[in-house]
Order: sequence, then C-alpha cells, then structure tokens
Amino acid sequence: PPVLAVVGRPNVGKSTLVNRIIGRREAVVEDTPGVTRDRVSYDAEWNGRLFRLVDTGGWELEARGLDRSVAEQAELAVQEADGVMLVVDAKVGPTSTDEQLVRVLRRVGRPVVLVANKVDDSGQAADVAALWSLGLGEPHPVSALHGRGSGDLLDAIVTMLPEHSQVATAQPGGPRRVAIIGRPNVGKSSLLNRATGTSRAVVNDLAGTTRDPVDELVTIAGTTWRFVDTAGIRRRVHLQQGSDYYATLRTQTALDRAEVAIVVLDVTQHISDQDLRIIDMVLESGRALVLAFNKWDLLDDDRRGQLEREIEQRLGHVSWAPRVNLSARTGRHLEKLVPALEAALEGWDTRVPTGKLNAFLHELAQANPHPLRGGKQPRVLFGTQAATQPPTFVLFTSGFMDPQYRRFIMRRLREVYGFVGTPIRIGMRVRE
Ligand code: GDP
Repeated sequence: PPVLAVVGRPNVGKSTLVNRIIGRREAVVEDTPGVTRDRVSYDAEWNGRLFRLVDTGGWELEARGLDRSVAEQAELAVQEADGVMLVVDAKVGPTSTDEQLVRVLRRVGRPVVLVANKVDDSGQAADVAALWSLGLGEPHPVSALHGRGSGDLLDAIVTMLPEHSQVATAQPGGPRRVAIIGRPNVGKSSLLNRATGTSRAVVNDLAGTTRDPVDELVTIAGTTWRFVDTAGIRRRVHLQQGSDYYATLRTQTALDRAEVAIVVLDVTQHISDQDLRIIDMVLESGRALVLAFNKWDLLDDDRRGQLEREIEQRLGHVSWAPRVNLSARTGRHLEKLVPALEAALEGWDTRVPTGKLNAFLHELAQANPHPLRGGKQPRVLFGTQAATQPPTFVLFTSGFMDPQYRRFIMRRLREVYGFVGTPIRIGMRVRE
C-alpha cells in the first residue's frame, strides 16, 4: 500500500491523530499475537483504500545528539513516503519550526496534507486561517482528541495518495531490497562481508543525504540484490546510553526500506527475547522474512539437538519462514540464501484471485463452520485480497468472528496457498 509519513513538532498531537485514524476501523490484524511495543508503522483503511501510516516521532530540526538522529530518520521516512501529513497545532499557530519543516518538505517534494490540530470547536476559524501562511494550501481542521474533521481529512489523504506505492519497490525489475538485521554480534557484518567479497557496489540514491543509509548491490550465486542500509551494519556505533534505542531505530529504518529481511541468529547462543523482538518487528513491518542461522561451523551435536527444540518452542509462530543454516566465516551454504529470498518474495508478492479465494472460503465454511454464538452463526460472506506485499485479505462477515477462527482461516490459507516466508494479514468487516 502507499505510504503516508506523519510529521510535526513534538506535542502537536500526532500520536493522538494516528490513533484516531487507525482506531476508527478495525485494524488489520497480524497473524501472530505480537508483544506490545512502540509501533512505528500501521496499516489503515478508508473507503476501501489501504495505506500505511508511518509515525516519525517528534521532528525537531535543531535537535542535537540522539534527537538529531531521530530528525534524520524522520526526514528519511519522508523521502521514502508517497505523501506526507504535516500536523501543526492550530492553537499555537505557525511557528518557525513549522516553517522550517515546510522548507524541508518542499525540498523532498512529496505531496503534503496540512492538518490543523486541536480545533475542538468552530470558534477557531481564525486560528485555522492563519495556517494558510505556511503555503501548503488549505489547512484541514481536526480535533484528534474528539474526532472532529477526521472524515474529511481521511478523504483528503486517500485523494492525495497514489493507488500503489511508488517508493517501496524502487524500479520494477531492479534488484530487490534486502535488510540484514539481528542483535549485535550474531555476524551481520561478517555475513555482509562474505556475501559482498570483492564485488561490492555502493549505491546511494538519496539525493542530498550524507548519512548512514547506504545501499550495496551484492551478487550471490549469480543473482544481484540490493542490501539496504549497510553502512549501519558496517559502522559499529557503540553508545553507552540509548544504544538499544539506536539499534531499534536502525532496524526499523532498514525494514522500512526493505522488501525482505534476513534475520541473523547465532546458533551458539540461545534464542533470546531480543531475537524474538526483532522478528516481531519484521512481522509488524509486513516484510518478507528469511531466518539465517549463523556460525554453523561452531555447532556441536549437543547444541544442535537443543537448538532444534528451541526453534520449535520459540519460533513456532514463524515456522513458515525459510531457514538457512550457514557460516559467514567459512562461507558454507551462503548461496542457499538465494532460493530462500526468492521463495519469501514470491509469497510476499502472491495474489489470490477473488474467485479462487471465495471458493476456498466457501469450502472452509462448509467443512468447519464458525461455532454458534447466541443462536446465530457468523459467516464469511465474501472475501477479497486487498493488497500484496504482504498478502492482505479483507473478509466481510455476517457477525463478529472469534480470534481462534481467524487464526484458523489464516492457517488454512497458508496450507492451501503456501505463503512461504511472508506474513499475511486478515481484516474483518462485519456487514450489518
Ligand atoms: P554483527 O554485530 O552482527 O555485525 O557481528 P559480527 O559480524 O561483527 O560478528 C561478531 C563475531 O562473531 C565476530 O568475532 C565474528 O568473527 C564472529 N562470527 C561471525 N560469523 C561467524 C561464523 O559463521 N562462524 C564463526 N565461528 N564466527 C563468526
């Protein structure tokens, strides 16, 4: 889906507005019960149009230190978006920071919807009118808190956004974008070095950016891939404080820019909560997933048996992800990444034709109807695949469906269509 970056100074009410936008519809659900975390991107829907909201956090141009890197990540998010929603506080009026933001947005050149937030009643027409001075056209007055104006705003958003994202998949037919992620010391940079060998081409098509995200074209066993944000892997940043935060930010940025993620795990270590959080970030981002079990050269028989059990216990929810056992040190099985990446992307790109999908849903309902609730039987009336990358389904139902039943549908979809290496999402709409 097209990507909408949400920007604005801190405290203008961005999060409230984001919650308002995603909360007014039943959110598209992930196929895995995730851990609670600070989410950065969300899927939203309005009038049958899907889009992805990327909340960029507070955007202070004069910020220093870590805040500054947040600002840079935010700017990057805008460059990677199809459109921008700039949120300003109508009660405060246009500030110099808002004006600076506008200059940056101009430079990046994405279409912008200007939101005048905190317009809680109609007595603030003058406040709203003052925002014309930002030169972004008509301000859209809303009260994120009370919901006032949000329907009109959503109309403006879906009108502005293109039908399909122009940014996620660079040029069609070009090398596909891969993120290498994982916790520290699992061997990400070793893997990258081994994969690039001598043939490394650095790409940086982000005009005017001199910072971290740099891509490299990497050829493995004859196929070329675009590894994103490799500078972040190669340049080790060790910060005493906030390094977790920083690492998470890097992972998120890489995921935002990638189509498929290779999550690297270290077979000599137990599968940790941090590994699981990183995998959760991939699921959340909706990117395709490949698991690389690195340092296979160090594996002995005892640990091997233990590892198999750990994988079963801790990674059962991503049993659909291709696994590659490799060694960055010796280069063993590195080439197996290619079929794994290809399979994952194939699943990620899959579109199930509506006719086939409905035949599948019909059969499923015949064989395994939803349990009765209050004497009635919730039924799936009709389904459609609203998006690919990742496959996203919308099912119209005659009543609310149990989470277990949704998961059952999800499992059956995987059994029938495979969806190797890709999260899938199902949204339900109750039709009255
Ligand atoms: P990163 O923090 O994830 O980028 O991890 P590094 O690539 O810096 O690797 C961390 C340590 O693990 C280094 O000492 C590497 O030499 C070592 N290492 C990485 N991959 C392998 C591997 O396949 N086998 C062995 N034995 N050691 C490895």
